[in-house]
Amino acid sequence: MRLESVCCNHCGAPLEVPADARFVTCRHCGSSLAIRRSESAVTTEVLQQMSEQMQEMSAEISRLRCQNELSELDRQWDRDKERYMIRQKDGSLREPSLAVATFIGVVGVLGGGAFAIIGLANFSPIALFGLLFIGVGIVAALVQSAKARDYRHARERYAQRRAAILQRLDAGPGGGDGPRALPSIEP
Ligand SMILES: [Zn+2]
Repeated sequence: MRLESVCCNHCGAPLEVPADARFVTCRHCGSSLAIRRSESAVTTEVLQQMSEQMQEMSAEISRLRCQNELSELDRQWDRDKERYMIRQKDGSLREPSLAVATFIGVVGVLGGGAFAIIGLANFSPIALFGLLFIGVGIVAALVQSAKARDYRHARERYAQRRAAILQRLDAGPGGGDGPRALPSIEP
């Protein structure tokens, strides 16, 4: 078996190792060493140092994973959000709001009510139009407020998931070894 000469990275003692060995224990200081081969040189590295590097790397990986999750969640929300939005006449989207729903209901009831009263006072068929207007106004208001509620719930869920990921990111090195993120509470 071909032997290679290396130096212990901890105490500097010369060591002979098999050419295909990946690890060696220094017979002078007892350090566990990893053998690093490059084109120009064969060196050793104390395993303790390596495990610190591994820990740093795994912390970095879990940080990247969190960031990935975060941007995926944001992209998902950008897509989902449009489902809840209401397209306006000019093509732009707006958030469904309870205020708008209330406004539609009030306009429907007051406007329709006025027509209904005028129509009934004059025995005119305009009263039917008034009643229809009230009905349409109430239905439109209910649809709007249901959309507003769904949108609010979806936005809350998104915010909770985002906060949970951010908490994991803040937990810092080691990711899962830090304080665990609180589970998000489903409404
Ligand atoms: Zn040594």
